[in-house]
Amino acid sequence: MPHLTDTIEHRPSYIKSAGQDKFQGHDYCLVDELLTDEHRLIRESVRAWVKKEISPIIEEYAQRAEFPHQIVKGLAEIGAFGPVIPTEYGGQGLDYISYGIIMQELERGDSGVRSTASVQSSLVMYPIHKFGSEEQRHKYLPKLGSGEWLGAFGLTEPNHGSDPGSMQTRIKDMGDHYVLNGSKMWISNAPFCNVAVVWAKDDEGVIRGVIVERGMEGFTTPHTHGKWSLRASTTGELVFDNVVIPKNNLLPNAKGLRGPLTCLSSARFGISWGAIGAALDCYDSALRYSQERIQFGKPIAGFQLTQKKLAEMITEITKAQLLAWRVGTLMNEGRATPSQISMAKRNNVDMALKIAREARQIHGGMGITGEYPIMRHMMNLESVITYEGTHDIHLLITGMDVTGLNAFK
Ligand SMILES: Cc1cc2nc3c(=O)[nH]c(=O)nc-3n(C[C@H](O)[C@H](O)[C@H](O)COP(=O)(O)OP(=O)(O)OC[C@H]3O[C@@H](n4cnc5c(N)ncnc54)[C@H](O)[C@@H]3O)c2cc1C
Repeated sequence: MPHLTDTIEHRPSYIKSAGQDKFQGHDYCLVDELLTDEHRLIRESVRAWVKKEISPIIEEYAQRAEFPHQIVKGLAEIGAFGPVIPTEYGGQGLDYISYGIIMQELERGDSGVRSTASVQSSLVMYPIHKFGSEEQRHKYLPKLGSGEWLGAFGLTEPNHGSDPGSMQTRIKDMGDHYVLNGSKMWISNAPFCNVAVVWAKDDEGVIRGVIVERGMEGFTTPHTHGKWSLRASTTGELVFDNVVIPKNNLLPNAKGLRGPLTCLSSARFGISWGAIGAALDCYDSALRYSQERIQFGKPIAGFQLTQKKLAEMITEITKAQLLAWRVGTLMNEGRATPSQISMAKRNNVDMALKIAREARQIHGGMGITGEYPIMRHMMNLESVITYEGTHDIHLLITGMDVTGLNAFK
């Protein structure tokens, strides 16, 4: 990783070693005891992989606004693609807590890396497994699980973000095939995806899912440039100009908005854990920095105002850990509601963003450089708080759940 200045000899030792990943986990209320040995093993192996493969390169890729394609195989090897998909289809056959733990550790490295795994697992493999035919499962899932193929999920459109039910993309039934027209915007992995699960309305106005493959005539994926956030994740558009879709590529078991929303529930659950990873990284860095940085003759950790920041950070992280774990157990039992998942996503991402901002202050000027992960996490979380349902939309979901009244319209 490039250093802040060419010569670093004059710097205090802790700043000389900036850029090295010294992360240690934090578990203030022994939430670890709620996990199984297998969960802890998964966490340690993903954490070790992130330290070896992500931390040394991520800042440079983020600065260059480039996705590190070389990590895809490794992501597959650590089980980040399709953790809850059965092994017979190329998934890992794990439970939802394991899925959450993997997302936490990946986002501890970078939200963009976690986004790639989330999209592949929850938004591409999950709908093909849940709503697809047996033939579709066997055709696509093993390739996606092994990282041979990367997928994208097309729901958002230029004119319809929070309100996907009003989408304009259409599939027209032509007898022996469909024709797809329209466009999707803000699509993670779009510019290099091999397949995309795309949501479109049929002739009756019902939302259906279709699998679109790269190479189909009339299908293009322009790259979205100029993002200040999630820079190590590539974003683009999916454009369909009279694309001929074979009938076999329609997901037979998804009808209506429930299809994409079910996928989003799974992804949002993963985000609720992922955000804890980003928050832990910011807290860990801020704690260490504040213990080493001397001002007015003592470590800045010794000042009450710094302690207020750190104490509040670990309190909020602990609450988020408990909420994520509880929703994970409900997911495992098939009892988690979309509103509970909304609450966990909204709370935990907001918590992580606030912690990133406070951690940035604790690092002073060093906090704005790429030698510490803080600014990158903070900027990434500005996307995470918006995608998969904005902060306010999740609040309205909770509001509707507790009052029974719809405040969306
Ligand atoms: C980096 C990135 C990657 C993404 N990846 C994907 C992807 O892979 N696939 C995909 O389909 N989408 C993806 N998205 C899109 C994302 O899900 C949308 O950005 C999100 O749903 C919000 O839609 P919007 O940006 O159009 O905002 P809008 O819906 O226009 O919302 C703008 C503001 O209005 C508020 N608002 C809207 N409606 C209401 C209401 N009823 N009451 C109160 N406030 C309201 C919102 O909360 C928000 O603050 C991605 C987005 C980003 C930034």
